[in-house]
Amino acid sequence: MVGQHESVADADAVGWRFDNTYTRLPSPLFVPSTPARVREPRAAILNHRLANELGLDLGARSPEAVAALFAGQVFPVGSQPIAQAYAGHQFGHFTMLGDGRAILLGEHRTPSGRLVDVQFKGSGRTRFSRGGDGLAALGPMLREYIISEALAGLGIPTTRSLAVVATGDPVYRESMRRGAILTRVAASHLRVGTFQYAAALGDESTLRALADYAIDRHDPELATDPRNYLEFLRAVADRQAALIARWQHVGFIHGVMNTDNMAIAGETIDYGPCAFMNAYDPGTVFSSIDRGGRYAYANQPGIAQWNLARLAETLLPLLSHDPDEAVSLATEVLDEFPARFEEYWLAGMRLKLGLQSAEAGDIELVQLLLDWMQKSQADFTNTFRDLSAEGRALGDPYRDPDFLAWQTQWHERLAREGRSPAEAAALMRTVNPAVIPRNHRVEEALSAAEDRDDLSVLHNLLAALASPYDYEARPDLARYQEPPTDERGYRTFCGT
Ligand code: AMP
Ligand code: MG
Repeated sequence: MVGQHESVADADAVGWRFDNTYTRLPSPLFVPSTPARVREPRAAILNHRLANELGLDLGARSPEAVAALFAGQVFPVGSQPIAQAYAGHQFGHFTMLGDGRAILLGEHRTPSGRLVDVQFKGSGRTRFSRGGDGLAALGPMLREYIISEALAGLGIPTTRSLAVVATGDPVYRESMRRGAILTRVAASHLRVGTFQYAAALGDESTLRALADYAIDRHDPELATDPRNYLEFLRAVADRQAALIARWQHVGFIHGVMNTDNMAIAGETIDYGPCAFMNAYDPGTVFSSIDRGGRYAYANQPGIAQWNLARLAETLLPLLSHDPDEAVSLATEVLDEFPARFEEYWLAGMRLKLGLQSAEAGDIELVQLLLDWMQKSQADFTNTFRDLSAEGRALGDPYRDPDFLAWQTQWHERLAREGRSPAEAAALMRTVNPAVIPRNHRVEEALSAAEDRDDLSVLHNLLAALASPYDYEARPDLARYQEPPTDERGYRTFCGT
């Protein structure tokens, strides 16, 4: 599949161990695709730490060779690039889609034996591009790099960003932008929408092959389970419950939770209009196109359940030959979701408050704090950070009688565990981030990179985000902790 592209030798020298398991699936699920030629590839950023984890040595080749590799101008041996087919409910409306601007190079075997997808984003048109150009601009690809690596730093399951290469070609959006290609690494790119696509084909053998592939990759222990497809649905639902709880714990708003943007592996995927909440408000929305607030912070668990219902519908023919029984089996799993989510959410919120045991009134204790935060427009991250700062006097906003009443209850609750607030603080600092990617700091890093070709601002931000639970007073940390002075009207954008 090297086609008109150059030799593969340079690519292999970095240490790829490629397979193409996806290409062995039924052919309607993908189309062979070749990355476009680019004018002058130049690496904007390389993730050397991730490369090491993957068993890759990017220092083994010249910068030009590495840039050519991550621009898709040379291929690893054994790579058979494809665009994956998938469908999706976008803001509730069903559409047949597919990788319109992404190309899967194949799967790489890491030194620890894990199989990971390696995918380009922004590498040119495919059969699924519809009216789009298949390209991506440098800013949005660097944005995905920053936010995905921030989630990884926080310990939240996510696709990873291995490289961003500027292509040297222009991309036309509202204005002319610099083109770029992101290399994304994922447990897989199987989406709820992949199952919707297979189901829409109306061919049960394709659907079954896809489900077997997903089970083999993500839930191999289910292979011999007589109810493997039902338990697979349960496993996907459980991963989503855990994932969305983690988002809620740090104030992450995905922004476009369409079914094509929900990964079967339970990783956060497709960083478009996502952003972190500052002042606590359950209705927070940043995405410019989400006018109804469908994907607002507080709606994320409910939307996950809605998306899982779409997955369940696709699996019905595999669950039972009796349609009524299939529906009742799937419904049982879906109905478990709110309680599963609440379990994960409450367990994490307890830790955020330094609590290690469970008491009946804990949910009310958490809710009371959240209500106070909303009323006083308190910064979500910094409130938990302040509560985690052992011995540090709390500032003026915390003199509010409502807060003090809550604090008394909290201290009493800690006392019942036999621990002082100071002891609790040590635990709290392991789960409450001292730093998150604040929107104004992300924008600042992106404009320095895009407008002035200055990557230093971005590197400093990434360094802070790599160890978000590090409370050691570092001179540079304070500027990443300040919320923006006024964020009304801050808007994020999709697919640019
Ligand atoms: P997203 O909103 O990024 O999840 O993308 C939704 C769908 O639109 C996916 O099928 C993408 O592949 C496709 N898409 C987004 N941007 C482009 C583009 N510039 N050219 C072609 N397809 C695109
Ligand atoms: Mg997407």
